[in-house]
Amino acid sequence: MNTKPPVTSCSFCGKKEKDTNSLIAGPAGVFICNECVELCDAMIAQQGKRPEKGGEAAPINMLKPHEIKARLDEYVIGQEHAKKVLSVAVHNHYKRMLHPGDDDGVELEKSNVLLVGPTGSGKTLLAKTLARILDVPYAVTDATTVTEAGYVGEDVESILLSLLQNADFDVKKAERGIIYIDEIDKIGRKTDNVSITRDVSGEGVQQALLKIIEGTIAKIPPKGGRKHPSEKYIDIDTSNILFICGGAFIGIEEIIKRRTDKKVLGFGADEEVSKDWKPVTMNIEPEDLLKFGLIPEFIGRIPLVVQLQELSEDDLVHILTTPKNAMIKQYKKLLGMDEVELDFDEEALCALARMAIKRKTGARGLRAILEHLMLDVMYEVPQRDDITHCRITRDVVEGRAHPIELGDVKKKSA
Ligand code: ADP
Repeated sequence: MNTKPPVTSCSFCGKKEKDTNSLIAGPAGVFICNECVELCDAMIAQQGKRPEKGGEAAPINMLKPHEIKARLDEYVIGQEHAKKVLSVAVHNHYKRMLHPGDDDGVELEKSNVLLVGPTGSGKTLLAKTLARILDVPYAVTDATTVTEAGYVGEDVESILLSLLQNADFDVKKAERGIIYIDEIDKIGRKTDNVSITRDVSGEGVQQALLKIIEGTIAKIPPKGGRKHPSEKYIDIDTSNILFICGGAFIGIEEIIKRRTDKKVLGFGADEEVSKDWKPVTMNIEPEDLLKFGLIPEFIGRIPLVVQLQELSEDDLVHILTTPKNAMIKQYKKLLGMDEVELDFDEEALCALARMAIKRKTGARGLRAILEHLMLDVMYEVPQRDDITHCRITRDVVEGRAHPIELGDVKKKSA
C-alpha cells in the first residue's frame, strides 16, 4: 500500500516542516518549530522568569544601593551625591526589570539619568563603573556624532550595535545594558551652526535619540552602517536599557541663579539669601534644561538629573593615589618591575592637582601632566642599574629640579 507520510506542521504558528529549520515533535501529534521555540524563550526571558541558559540564575547583579555605592567608591572619588542617586536609580531600574508586570496595576517607570558636571569630573567613569559593577554590557557615544537617519554620520542604531557587540551579540544581554551618551548639551535646538540644509545635530537628533531612550524595538543592521532593504535586522528592545546622558551644560549655574534669585526676591527675601547661594545645593529644573535647547519630550524621558561637582585639589590628589587603579599606583608598579621604588611627596601631588585645575580639564588632565612629568624617569630608569629609588618632589613637578639628576635617587651600590 502506498500511504503518504502525514504533513507535519508547527502546532503554534502553522508553518510546514519544509519551511522550518527543525520541527520538534511532542506527544499526540503536537509539534513546535525552531522559530517558535526562540520566540517562547524570548517571551519567558522578558518576563524575567527564566534562569539563563545553562540553568544558572539570571545574571542581573541585583545589588542593594549601599553595595552599589560602596563599589563605586572604589573607583570614583568624591561626587558623593551623584553616587548615591545613581545607586538608588540603578537598583530600582533592575528591580523594575525583574518585576515587569505585577498585577497591582502599578507600573514602574524607567528612570534614565542625566549627569550634569564639568569636563573630567567623572561622568563617563560613573556610567562605565556602574556597568562593570553590575556586569552588564556598556556602550558610550557622543551625541554630537549622532545624526538623524539619512544624514552623513552615525545613526542612532549604531549605538545599539556597539552595545550588542560588547554583549558578544547576545541580544538579551544587550537589552539590559547601559548606554552613556556624552555631550548631550551640545545637541540643543538652537545652534549657531548656520546650515543651508537642515540642522542635522539639533532637534532631529533629539527626536531620534528619544525613540530609543523611551523604549522601542530597534532594527539593527548587524554589520552596521546604512540599512539595506534586503538585509535581515536584529531586533533590540530598548525599553530596559538604562540611558545615562552627560554634559557640562556650561553656564547652567547662571541660569539657575537667575531663576532662584527671582524666586527668592519674590518671597521678599533680602540680598543676603542670594549671596549665600551655593552651587552645591543647586537644583536643576526642567526649565533650565529647556534653555539649553533640549526639547520637553527629551527632558521628560530623563527624569533624574544629577549634578557633579568640580573636583577639588584634595579630590584630585585622591584620584592620583587611592582608586584601585590609581595612576600613581600604576607608575609605582611599572618602576617596581625595574626594582626601583617610586615616591611622591604630598606637596608634589598637590602641585600636580593644582596644575590640572589650572587646565580646567578636571581629572582628565592629570594623566597628561603625569605622563609628561614621568617621561624622563621612564626613559632613564630601565637602563640605569644603579637606581633603586626615585622621589618626586614639588620642585620636580614645577620644573625646578630633575627627578634623576638632583640627588633624589639612591644608587644601588650605595
Ligand atoms: P567626564 O565624562 O566627566 O568628562 P571622565 O569620567 O571621562 O570625565 O574622566 C576622565 C578620567 O579622569 C577618568 O577616566 C578617570 O581616570 C578620571 N576621573 C575623573 N573623575 C574622577 C573621579 N571622580 N574619581 C576618580 N577618577 C576620576
